[in-house]
Amino acid sequence: MSDAKHDPIRAYYDTLFSAWGRQHWWPAQSRFEMIVGAYLTQNTAWTNVEKALRNLRQAEVLTIGRIRQTPQARLEQLIRPSGYFRQKAQRLKTFVKFLDKRYGGSLTRMFARPTEELREELLALNGVGPETADSILLYAGNHPVFVVDAYTRRILERHKIMERGADYEKIRQLFGEALVEMPLPGQSLALSPAIAGPLGSCHRPSRVSRAERTDLVQIFNEMHGLLVGVGKNYCLKSQARCEQCPLQKFLPAAE
Ligand code: SF4
Repeated sequence: MSDAKHDPIRAYYDTLFSAWGRQHWWPAQSRFEMIVGAYLTQNTAWTNVEKALRNLRQAEVLTIGRIRQTPQARLEQLIRPSGYFRQKAQRLKTFVKFLDKRYGGSLTRMFARPTEELREELLALNGVGPETADSILLYAGNHPVFVVDAYTRRILERHKIMERGADYEKIRQLFGEALVEMPLPGQSLALSPAIAGPLGSCHRPSRVSRAERTDLVQIFNEMHGLLVGVGKNYCLKSQARCEQCPLQKFLPAAE
């Protein structure tokens, strides 16, 4: 399938991947650590999440079993740097209870569920919105879903592809359709280091980023990381630094 709606998305991927290479998302050493990070990153900067994760790691609480056993007050104390710590501690406990009850405490059993069915279950959990559910599905579960975040919205809006406040599902569908049919451009570069310029939002390789996954899931994975790189380095909320941005050639002409 090739049409005007999907071509820009594929062109963005090609351009950014050629410039920056693999982004190595998500920075975590286990699937569970990734899930904890997805909860903790809500409404805070990643640097704060790193502090909370460091506390959990040092206290040896970064496992399903230990989160299950650790009293809520202690958990709150450990994740305090990530903000909203009471709410987040409660939500982590809720996730582990769900995992225990529904899947006998096994992430492997959970992620074996069909994508849309598991997505519905995750969305029903307290504190899990579409972005968190899709992050967990994609980065911990290697399910082919696209994660829509504020950076993606801003880029699409400034490029007049989507209107402000566009429905999450509409954006997810756009990327899903565009990327699913992609002839894997740039895949020959997939195992190469970045070849030029800044690294976008590149992380150090981690166990989760290097996990085995299909080409399609890898593309969904990279696309989100690449757009975060654009949003963090060029397409800022306060200012669009288009002159240096790799996506400048795709900017629609000013009216
Ligand atoms: S910085 Fe400019 S060129 Fe880059 S994505 Fe934003 S609007 Fe487009």
